[in-house]
Amino acid sequence: MTQFNPEQALWRIRREFGEHGGVSPSISRSSTFTVLDPGIMPDIFKGVRGPEKGGYFLYSRHFNPTVDTLARELAAMENTEAAICTSSGMSAIACTILQLCRAGDHVVASSSIYGGTHALFEHLLPEMGIKTTFVDISDHVAVQAAITSATKVIFTESVGNPTLQVSDIPTLAKLAHDHEKLLVVDNTFTPMILTPSFLGADIIISSLTKFVNGASDVIAGVICSSKEFVHQLTNLHTGRIMLLGPTMDARTAFDIQQRLPHLSLRMKEHSVRAKAVADLLFQIKAKIIYPGLSSHPQHELMKSLINEGYGFGGIIAIDCITQERAETFMSLLQNKERFGLIAVSLGYFDTLMSCSGASTASEIAIEDQKTMGLSPGLVRLSIGITGSLPERLEQIERAAKEAGLV
Ligand SMILES: *Cc1c(COP(=O)(O)O)cnc(C)c1O
Repeated sequence: MTQFNPEQALWRIRREFGEHGGVSPSISRSSTFTVLDPGIMPDIFKGVRGPEKGGYFLYSRHFNPTVDTLARELAAMENTEAAICTSSGMSAIACTILQLCRAGDHVVASSSIYGGTHALFEHLLPEMGIKTTFVDISDHVAVQAAITSATKVIFTESVGNPTLQVSDIPTLAKLAHDHEKLLVVDNTFTPMILTPSFLGADIIISSLTKFVNGASDVIAGVICSSKEFVHQLTNLHTGRIMLLGPTMDARTAFDIQQRLPHLSLRMKEHSVRAKAVADLLFQIKAKIIYPGLSSHPQHELMKSLINEGYGFGGIIAIDCITQERAETFMSLLQNKERFGLIAVSLGYFDTLMSCSGASTASEIAIEDQKTMGLSPGLVRLSIGITGSLPERLEQIERAAKEAGLV
């Protein structure tokens, strides 16, 4: 297969300069926009004029120039025609599903997904008449069997949270398209590493809160898709983004935009360090889960899907078997070794770690956690890029030994 180069795609698009020749773009902080002639305003409402049709803006819940610039860059990076930025990853997921599904419709979703998304599908959407069947996304027979005439969407994460199950996006896309369904992929764990649209996915969602922003200081999301779908989301009468209103603020867009230039460097470094930590833990026989290790069940699959040069990502998981041992391990890593911080979330420049079953996946019932292969002692680590790597390796080896993992 030919390769996609996200870095090249991102920097091939037109650069935005600031007012007065600023090398950085300006921040367009205005909720509303004026027109020179009152006759123009009805044209904007009719869609005859707009951001792409003459550079007309109306109101920032609809479109904002700064937010649009970030959206264009993210669309280029994800190889889609268009994108729309949202106030969070969750709002991106919720608005996408609500735009695609009506009462009576059905979703087939991976059982190994982020706890918030799981709760959305399991509890909130059924209240609106939208049902979900959860499946093991690697079991393509089960995926196919779950599809009904009411199914609108197959939903998965490129690399599943928190068990690091890798989705076979080309096969799932073919399955979806053979049945005239859409494949929606959450690519939060693997920006630049995987390009789901290049592999056949229709709509790509990302929580920008994580790696893309990389500084754990904002909550943000994006939907990357066709222009037509973005227009549906922003339709003045029925658009879920327009009418539910989870739009991104211009200051947030500017902050994230200024961090895109080093996203590829960060992703490469996260991967290099996660691989080094995973190799070490594998050597000393800890129960380590990392798709970059040949011991991982989807290692060969992921190898065949990734863009060259970005590695296998910055997230690893260690099965400490019991929650108690997981807590001892995390406490040693944070309070004794200063290896990282006990906190949910991921993609920060420092290491973040949490015991998934008792935190970010706690929305998922214990029996369901078992079926998705989530051990109560699973510690997810988002490996940071700070500090000296040899010292980091010494720290985690000592903590693993002291916590009795090996
Ligand atoms: C964090 C996360 C989300 C939710 O994103 P927010 O920005 O917190 O709303 C969705 N999917 C995955 C895989 C995540 O890790």
